[in-house]
Amino acid sequence: MTKFRRIGVLTSGGDAPGMNAAIRAITRKALEQGVEVMGIIGGYSGLINEKIIPLTTRSVANIINRGGTMLYSDRCVEFKTEEGMAKAIATCKKYDIDAIVAIGGDGTFRGATDLTLRGVPTIGVTGTIDNDITATDYTVGFDTAMNTVLEAVDKLRDTCESHARCNVVEVMGRNCGQIALMSGIALGAIVICIPEVPFDEKLALEKIKSAKDAGKRGFVVLVSEGCFTEDGKPYGEVLREKIEEETGIESKFVRLAHIVRGGAPTLRDRLTATKMGVAAVELLLEGKSNRVVIEDDGKITDLDIVFALTTDSMYKNKLKEGALDKFSEEDIAAMKAICDKRKAEIDELYKIAYDVCK
Ligand code: ADP
Repeated sequence: MTKFRRIGVLTSGGDAPGMNAAIRAITRKALEQGVEVMGIIGGYSGLINEKIIPLTTRSVANIINRGGTMLYSDRCVEFKTEEGMAKAIATCKKYDIDAIVAIGGDGTFRGATDLTLRGVPTIGVTGTIDNDITATDYTVGFDTAMNTVLEAVDKLRDTCESHARCNVVEVMGRNCGQIALMSGIALGAIVICIPEVPFDEKLALEKIKSAKDAGKRGFVVLVSEGCFTEDGKPYGEVLREKIEEETGIESKFVRLAHIVRGGAPTLRDRLTATKMGVAAVELLLEGKSNRVVIEDDGKITDLDIVFALTTDSMYKNKLKEGALDKFSEEDIAAMKAICDKRKAEIDELYKIAYDVCK
């Protein structure tokens, strides 16, 4: 067992409900193992600007039920520079921080890898509402975000039905349509538009028209924020106009935006964050580094961060030249299998949505 005296924990990038539950679990598990914990305030900028506070069992009390992050978050450009990185490493030395657990998304994990390369072992814990890290089935915050969409759009449904209206709702997810797809199914959205699946606008409008002709009054359409027209306009607003023009149904556009990021984490997010936080500390104590804690078929396990990030790039068709060179054929096959699994899941759900939401 590696004996760390003190570790740091930070939350970085977009915040997600459940980050607090992860901070709490990491802190308490580490303290239980005799390892001190320092909270780094404001993501990687806290490392650069020496915003460091000790965390205790009591200082992480009463946060498991709170959205946001008690350590605050940030998008820190300076951290990506050599100078910023040097300051971050100097802070780790000054405060005797032997290792870091970084909670966030893919950008956060890229930063974690840079720290590892410079001698500070790191473990990543997923915290992003978008569920957009291909190598894990689940990211902390996703369930809460979808439940928030449900709560808001259920209200819109009521009024859509009363007034025979359509509401086109844009939800977050960056380039990943999973929030729109899964919450869309749970909401009975007649049309769902996500970046992963080519959108047949004509078919969508016909579907709405024939449902109207068959007596349907209220319509909900879910569009992911990653969908744009060819000239770069957010597609949801454009689709609203087309629905109104082509079907004659009064249509409104709603952007839920950051509402989807907040709120008390659901049971699933509290539980997953707690399990992932504990796993992160265990990995560090086993002497592992540059790993990201993931969920795979219901089990909490871990992967090499660079493997996970490369799988992500493969899935998103963003592989840089030579990115696969350092991986074995076995690794590459494993990456492809993960990408195929993810794509098959999305295609299956999209078909379910099309068949059932009428
Ligand atoms: P997320 O972690 O949610 O994907 P970002 O992409 O904004 O969010 O990344 C969070 C932070 O991680 C950035 O503000 C930056 O400080 C750090 N980061 C992102 N990409 C890199 C990189 N390539 N190298 C080093 N640090 C990075």
